[in-house]
Amino acid sequence: MPDKVHKPAFASWGRYPVYDAAVLPLNWASDFPPSTLQLNGMLPVGMGRSYGDVCLLKDGTLLPTRGMDRLLHFDPQTGLLRCESGVTLAEILNFGVPRGWFLPVTPGTKYVTVGGAIANDIHGKNHHIAGTFGGHVRRFELVRSDGAAMLCSPTDNEDWYAATIGGLGLTGLITWAEVQLKPIVSRLIKYEGIQFRGLDEFIALSKASQHLEYTVSWIDCVSQGKNFARGIFMQGDHSEIPAPLPQSPEPKLVFPFDLPGFALNRASMSAFNSLYFHKQFKKQVVSLVDYEPFFYPLDKVLHWNRMYGKRGLLQFQCVVPWDNGKHAITEILKAITASGLASFLAVLKVFGDVKSPGMMSFPAPGITLALDFPIKPETSFPLFDRLASMTLEFGGRLYPAKDARMTAAQFQAFYPQWQQFARYRDPQISSSFWERVTGEWE
Ligand SMILES: Cc1cc2nc3c(=O)[nH]c(=O)nc-3n(C[C@H](O)[C@H](O)[C@H](O)COP(=O)(O)OP(=O)(O)OC[C@H]3O[C@@H](n4cnc5c(N)ncnc54)[C@H](O)[C@@H]3O)c2cc1C
Repeated sequence: MPDKVHKPAFASWGRYPVYDAAVLPLNWASDFPPSTLQLNGMLPVGMGRSYGDVCLLKDGTLLPTRGMDRLLHFDPQTGLLRCESGVTLAEILNFGVPRGWFLPVTPGTKYVTVGGAIANDIHGKNHHIAGTFGGHVRRFELVRSDGAAMLCSPTDNEDWYAATIGGLGLTGLITWAEVQLKPIVSRLIKYEGIQFRGLDEFIALSKASQHLEYTVSWIDCVSQGKNFARGIFMQGDHSEIPAPLPQSPEPKLVFPFDLPGFALNRASMSAFNSLYFHKQFKKQVVSLVDYEPFFYPLDKVLHWNRMYGKRGLLQFQCVVPWDNGKHAITEILKAITASGLASFLAVLKVFGDVKSPGMMSFPAPGITLALDFPIKPETSFPLFDRLASMTLEFGGRLYPAKDARMTAAQFQAFYPQWQQFARYRDPQISSSFWERVTGEWE
């Protein structure tokens, strides 16, 4: 019997949880606040590229911002771009790259909105050098549900600026933002891929590459024994040799249907991990690659989340501090490999100590591990819960943008500043995430 699936009008990337909500698209900043009171609260949302429930509000009203997609001003001398919050990073690249300007920070997908990037204070492969996205947002407008508008920057309404960056959409609607782009002369990235075996090698490579703009690793979360914690360390920097700067073509591949639940099993994951490790035949590979496959390998196939079947996927992303970072990641990896549940999308990276401007931002100095699990409630939920407890025990924290499971007690221990932050929440705005982790709703 195929699983029965309820299709909501708006889903998050993990397609879990699934909630009914009314949808009221915003096309102009003046559409907010809505003219009628939304009884069960409301929540601005972007592309729904968050994995769990930060972009959901059960039985409330979601306000998708994609209609607010206008570029408002650009200074070609300084690279400062002002745009509405529903503009995607893909649209900024389409505009900026041909003019020689690139995103200051980008996540592993370009299909996120500027509003979503600020609200989760996203990070990228250059966190150790550039910090989070919020650090490159010079100012933005925040509109509250009573219609009050505030200009927020590091020097104007500083506390609202700090609460809204990483503020999970709860402080109001970001209508527009000014983002500082960075100059490039080529689409190409000077890439180096290095195989590593074990966390000592990973940490040594990370330390040796701190001067390079981008670093990230794929890690095999399935193999045990001598292949435990093997992976490929990927580093890169923008090429300084001037080259043509055309726009990227639109992706043509679409993942056509939901894979049946049994397709992602230990054998298929194990085969993939082995193939991926060995796709790089040599210990070290150096090449020039286009920025698209370097930053967005998964964007090539639209709707790739269907690969996880109708039940969807959970993502686990933690950061653990340096003090016991190696021990913590080893123990977490052991728990994952022993479970046989991890998928092939496992990423390991070192966060630097550039301070984020957000009160609730996730990144902190240390090691971050992110990976997907297909949802199999009887096995993946207990594993996830165990990993969350281990993260807490090791003094780390989980990333709300990826989460659908952490408990209220865990969230409040990960983010002890949450009550201070709660004072900035708009009384008409909430999310299923917030209700889950605080039980708070007026
Ligand atoms: C393949 C993939 C790779 C990813 N890689 C990374 C990564 O490397 N690093 C990383 O940090 N994240 C990563 N993510 C997560 C993603 O970058 C974030 O979840 C991002 O916030 C999604 O943006 P969105 O536009 O889809 O917003 P949504 O997911 O729709 O919403 C996210 C939050 O933003 C709020 N929000 C949206 N618009 C506004 C607005 N105008 N005003 C106020 N609040 C608003 C929502 O209320 C919600 O709380 C990845 C996701 C995917 C699917």
